[in-house]
Amino acid sequence: MKQTMKKMIGTTVVGAVLALSGASALADAKNPKIGFSIDDLRVERWARDRYYFEAAAEKAGAKVFVQSANANEQQQISQIENLISRGVDVLVIVPFNATVLTNAVKEAKKAGIKVISYDRLILNADIDAYISFDNGKVGEMQAAEMIKLKPKGNYYLLGGAPTDNNAKVLRQGQMKVLQPLIDKGDIKIVGQQWVKEWSASEAMSIVENALTANNNKIDAIVASNDGTAGGAIQALAAQKLSGKVPVSGQDADLAAVKRVIAGTQSMTVYKPLKAIATEASKMAIQLVRNEKPAYNAESDNGMKKVHSILLKPTALTKANINMLVDDGFYTKEQITVK
Ligand code: BGC
Repeated sequence: MKQTMKKMIGTTVVGAVLALSGASALADAKNPKIGFSIDDLRVERWARDRYYFEAAAEKAGAKVFVQSANANEQQQISQIENLISRGVDVLVIVPFNATVLTNAVKEAKKAGIKVISYDRLILNADIDAYISFDNGKVGEMQAAEMIKLKPKGNYYLLGGAPTDNNAKVLRQGQMKVLQPLIDKGDIKIVGQQWVKEWSASEAMSIVENALTANNNKIDAIVASNDGTAGGAIQALAAQKLSGKVPVSGQDADLAAVKRVIAGTQSMTVYKPLKAIATEASKMAIQLVRNEKPAYNAESDNGMKKVHSILLKPTALTKANINMLVDDGFYTKEQITVK
């Protein structure tokens, strides 16, 4: 019933439908049900996204059903199917694997449910919208800080999860900055690897091996996020190289912020999670109400050009790390290294 009604709305019979059974349609629009399917709530940043998202959505009168797939693509697919059968009005998805949700999204769309890709782009699927930070810019910021600290030398590229489209976009941004210096012969890429599931321990063993293979002659590590940076820095510490070899990151994870202050991690990138979560909840509600979100970009996901909102990231070093306190992301006490 609900499904047919949703299909009919927007056609000429809209008046008749509303007169007959509009009450529940209006109820949906007023208090939408949002399904939030998250790759992995065990990871610090996603837990924060969830918290801010729920707060904003509930304040706006929506109800949120949250599921964590714990980095398991099958689990994510069945959780999405479950949210569809529960009758949510809109799905917001942080995909674990960008390439396996084509059918799940198709099922949602068939049931008249809008689909938003959150932070990571779902590929080859008929999604309605995408919200993220400008990940190309994040990659540029990571590489820019590395070349500032080491304009010449041997670079190691520690990529994100191969299943995450962001990992590739970050790499494109990093290469935009590095390529001219590679061409000039100032920078040599001595190795590169994608880190499965963005795992810190996997990152550590990759960097251990890279150090051995290069007789410790690595001058900078372009790590794509804070978790993997942490693994890289542990491997460097075992060779008494932490603080000597610049390492990048992103997310402003608490541990990473402390490393930036201590000087073992050179930079992180601050992506205000409250902003993305709040915008996303607004977007979800707008789509249910057939209103147009304030898109500022388009992202090609292989099937279509997806209407997108891309928010601005900020590069942080020790010099401006206090911005996190000013912005309410952490308290002064939290980031004080004792
Ligand atoms: C996000 C990063 C995060 C990483 C691992 C990426 O898609 O953009 O913020 O660190 O996934 O969870």
